[in-house]
Amino acid sequence: MFKALRRKAPPPVVEQRNILLSGKEVSYTLKRSGYRRSIGLRIDDRGLTVNAPLRASEKWLHSVLLDKADWVVDKLDTWESKRAPPIEWADGARIPFRGEEFILQLTQKKRGAVAQLHGGVLQVPVGIDAEAAAIGKSVTHWYRIEALQVFRECAEHFASQMNVSPREIKLSTARTQWGSCTVQGVVRLNWQLVKMPLHLIDYVVVHELAHLVEMNHSPAFWQVVERACPDYRQCRAELRSCGVAE
Ligand SMILES: [Zn+2]
Repeated sequence: MFKALRRKAPPPVVEQRNILLSGKEVSYTLKRSGYRRSIGLRIDDRGLTVNAPLRASEKWLHSVLLDKADWVVDKLDTWESKRAPPIEWADGARIPFRGEEFILQLTQKKRGAVAQLHGGVLQVPVGIDAEAAAIGKSVTHWYRIEALQVFRECAEHFASQMNVSPREIKLSTARTQWGSCTVQGVVRLNWQLVKMPLHLIDYVVVHELAHLVEMNHSPAFWQVVERACPDYRQCRAELRSCGVAE
């Protein structure tokens, strides 16, 4: 009997991965090349890219990443703060909401009144000569109310489809993550996610709900995600360009 001499298949040239660095889940692109002799890390507007020799071992990769963990997290934070220029809180400002843009309009001050959408305009009842801080506060308040409603509806829709039951949907203000999920079933979603297009909101919700089935990022986890969100790869790429992990 001949035993076929088979060479181990080479690892993929480009891969998308996740790693926990300094307590933060960081997704990165691993690129392998036959020309490289060392492992190099690069951080830019697309996030972290790791360039490695074709057959670099997992152990080596890990040790380099863990060694540079603080640097990576710090750099990613810096990129994140540079991205998405802050909204200028003034009449006529453009307000992103569910992937669309609305125009901020200051209206007569009304005690206890909340901002409201009318067509393409977000009316903010803080008085026409309100200061930036007051406008920002009112709009953020509005964002949070809307975010909770949008996320809850979305979670309800996908929970029944995925046959999971989250205990609670809450808002978070995490700067480096769109969402998280605890073993107790509490899903937290960054309220700023409500600025993004609906398909990206769907993906993040599906991702967190999938953790109720698989508390990891194993191939089994991604299968659960894919069943509810077939174009999740594209969504991840879009979200990555915003520099915040799912
Ligand atoms: Zn996850």
